[in-house]
Amino acid sequence: MSIHDDPNIDKPNNAEPNDDTPNGDKSRSLPDNPFAGLTRAAADSEDSDERWMEEALRLARLAELAGEVPIGAVVVSEGRYVIDTDADGRPLDRRIVDRRIIGRGHNQVVSLSDPCAHAEIQALRDAGRTLGNYRLNGCQLFVTLEPCAMCAGAIVHARIARLVFGARDPKAGAVGSIMEILNHPHLNHRIRIAEGVLAGRCMDILQSFFRQRRD
Ligand SMILES: [Zn+2]
Repeated sequence: MSIHDDPNIDKPNNAEPNDDTPNGDKSRSLPDNPFAGLTRAAADSEDSDERWMEEALRLARLAELAGEVPIGAVVVSEGRYVIDTDADGRPLDRRIVDRRIIGRGHNQVVSLSDPCAHAEIQALRDAGRTLGNYRLNGCQLFVTLEPCAMCAGAIVHARIARLVFGARDPKAGAVGSIMEILNHPHLNHRIRIAEGVLAGRCMDILQSFFRQRRD
């Protein structure tokens, strides 16, 4: 089965609000949602995948300034649902609030002399410190480049609920490009995946970095 057939993988450029469409995956994550019959709420109106990826890109630029391959990542907290009601107390809408960045990271393998200091690992460690927990249940990870095998493994260990990445990595990507670690049939943890968010800019910053290194 190719990555494009995987029901766990959102189609490219699927912003978070679209997850709540009837064919999206949000219904599975909210099995007891009493508002399923309502018109789709502005559940994620206050944020979007692009918003979080912008911060990951900002971190990638920090890596670039330090002479590191420019890759950035953020971990976003689960947030919580609030329910809007009418004057009679009937539910009208639900919204997610308090979603925020709890972990940031950028590639630092050279500066730290650490082969594990990929952007995702740094962001996961930062988020773990923020929550005081190595499990990041319900959290989302945004990263500018498709994770490698090491980072995909760490994402499973952290129990990240959703991964969003920008550009594909045809040489080392472990989310479909050269292998598929996430949602492996022998692993219990299921994770939702979206790709292609700000992919052009995520790829541009990498390509210009390597172009300058060659010149
Ligand atoms: Zn990695």
